[in-house]
Amino acid sequence: MGPVSWHAEAEVVAFVIVGIVLIYSREGNNMLPTLKNRVFQLCLFTTFLSIGMNIASVCLIAAGPAVPVILTDAANTLYFVTTPAMALTYFYYTIAYVYEHSSHIRRVYLISTIPYAIYMGFALVNPVTNWLFSYDLQNGYQRGPLQILPYVVFYAYCIGCLLVTTLSGRHIDGPIRRILYAFPLVAAMVIVVQQIVPQYILSGSAAACALLVIYLYLQNKRITVDPLTGLSNRQAYTAMLELRLRQKRSITVVVMSLMDFKFINDTFGQKSGDRVLCQIAAYLSKEAAPDRVYRCGGDEFAVLMESETDADERIRRIRKRFSQPWDVSGSGCMVYAGVGVARAWQLKLSVEELISALECAVAEAKEGGTGRVVVCDDRMVARMKRKHAVTEILKEELLNQGFEVYYQPIYRREDGSFPVAEALLRLPNTPLGPIYPDEFIPIAEETGLIVQMTYLVLAKVCRFLRELLDEGAKLEGVSVNLSVLQFMQKDLADRISEIIDYYQVPARFIKLEITESVVASNYEAVLSVMEKLAKKGVQFALDDFGTGYSNLSYVMHLPVDMVKIDRSLIWSSLNNDRCATLVEAVSRTFGQAGIRMIAEGVETGEQAAFVQRCGIELIQGFLYAKPMPPEKALPYLMGTKELVKK
Ligand code: C2E
Ligand code: CA
Ligand code: CA
Repeated sequence: MGPVSWHAEAEVVAFVIVGIVLIYSREGNNMLPTLKNRVFQLCLFTTFLSIGMNIASVCLIAAGPAVPVILTDAANTLYFVTTPAMALTYFYYTIAYVYEHSSHIRRVYLISTIPYAIYMGFALVNPVTNWLFSYDLQNGYQRGPLQILPYVVFYAYCIGCLLVTTLSGRHIDGPIRRILYAFPLVAAMVIVVQQIVPQYILSGSAAACALLVIYLYLQNKRITVDPLTGLSNRQAYTAMLELRLRQKRSITVVVMSLMDFKFINDTFGQKSGDRVLCQIAAYLSKEAAPDRVYRCGGDEFAVLMESETDADERIRRIRKRFSQPWDVSGSGCMVYAGVGVARAWQLKLSVEELISALECAVAEAKEGGTGRVVVCDDRMVARMKRKHAVTEILKEELLNQGFEVYYQPIYRREDGSFPVAEALLRLPNTPLGPIYPDEFIPIAEETGLIVQMTYLVLAKVCRFLRELLDEGAKLEGVSVNLSVLQFMQKDLADRISEIIDYYQVPARFIKLEITESVVASNYEAVLSVMEKLAKKGVQFALDDFGTGYSNLSYVMHLPVDMVKIDRSLIWSSLNNDRCATLVEAVSRTFGQAGIRMIAEGVETGEQAAFVQRCGIELIQGFLYAKPMPPEKALPYLMGTKELVKK
């Protein structure tokens, strides 16, 4: 066969493109050293080399006698070595993407390299054997008897990629799967084109296209960079934590959470707030170098300190910086930060556990006005583990509808009856023993589980009410607590209506308790839900009155039927005259405005006498009735329980 005139123009373009991606993907020190990222670099590098060798061999063959034979032979040999290596590294990448966290990944890599290693042996001895190709000045470039071998190896790895991607199942999402198919499918297309126009070399361009697709969609570092500060984002933070924990590196994680940052935004405007964040980011980057800083939340930064030796000193310096002002629109402004520290290797936690333990530390560090440094210790880890365990129990109970709802009958002074009850969640039997609402309600709110829990409580309450009404009870209704999270749900009013309608309970028997902080958090949304439900006949009680803002305008402008005076106010009134006078005045005023009053937490006769003096109509307290299971509460609400006069 005579010399062929090859066209390698497309390869030159591909060479430049892969070169640019190679440089750009490493620029800025933002690349995390994860397996996936490192293998992608290897892919780029091998492809770059393979295309380079391809171009070099074409040029050298064309130059003929002008260059030494040995050089042309060497370039061709290297081309044969690197071309199937492109497919091998791509196969590595697919494996890294799909099975990144598998402990067998090293073994898979080792075994999958064997075919290539054998092939490479053939390629390296080719100058002697001429099995793949031969080159000399007389005959030029000639194909050898095993010339098909590189193609076989190349396409075997492509098929491997297809298989791994197809079998990956739940490991990867559909869109990512399609992207991973790019390389083997483009390679297959190239075979077809190459058959039609053999003199146009396209293999490198094809590989470059596939890598470009991956770069744009999977490996683009913008995915892991926070656009405002240029720091790595939360995604990068968790990926890096995961990596370092797997490598059992002795890192110290430092999380800095800014305090009251909303105040800066509200007072000086969003733009100034952004500038302060950038200043803090720049300061931390300088202080933390060479370690990386992450912006792991709107007002939260983290540093993974890789060396233990000066960690304490660096934390001390950071702490000191946060006790000095930052420049906000030309004037100095204090931005305090709560700093949580975890010596990750000592704690032996999973990534999720470590992040929650740090959350606990940060929360504690933010207590008190000016921020502190709190180191995660065993106590905190135990607390975090308990929180995890409680969360799991809540999920389980929600799934099995296992929560119990107790009822605390509420006493009416006038006739000694119990016309109302408050529904209270109970978890008396769990693997951790009884868990009390003071512990599990905040956890349910933090995890968002409270939303579904409330619907469950409401359903149970409706069923109980249906039973009571069918038995002819003359009660006024049962109250259910609503959490602030409830109001984030767009369909809150509809869901509540649906449940009430399903059990065919007249809406006026349902009373919903909300606290002032709920109203303050989102006045418009709360008002709109309240108005919708009030129209239907649902009644509302303002809970824990006197502990929050005690904003009279809420009582005036919201459709509130009852106000529940918090127990702390009742208790204080007995030894604080001013408090007593205030409670008395407020109760009388509300009473005159037609708002019904409930006193909470009445435990003693003295407190009962005080409540009577205030003219408060309803009393919820252990003195009259404690929260109890439905069967025990039934006689109270049916009116068959003998009337108590206290
Ligand atoms: P809360 O809404 O203020 O509920 C009244 C709490 O006061 C209940 O505590 C009740 O047992 C207690 N209590 C009633 N009378 C007395 C008394 O005379 N003395 C004393 N010391 N306490 C009295 P519980 O059941 O432990 O609930 C605590 C908090 O947990 C509730 O405070 C409420 O904020 C929350 N919670 C309970 N159940 C639910 C629920 O189903 N949903 C929501 N969102 N929160 C709930
Ligand atoms: Ca309540
Ligand atoms: Ca209350």
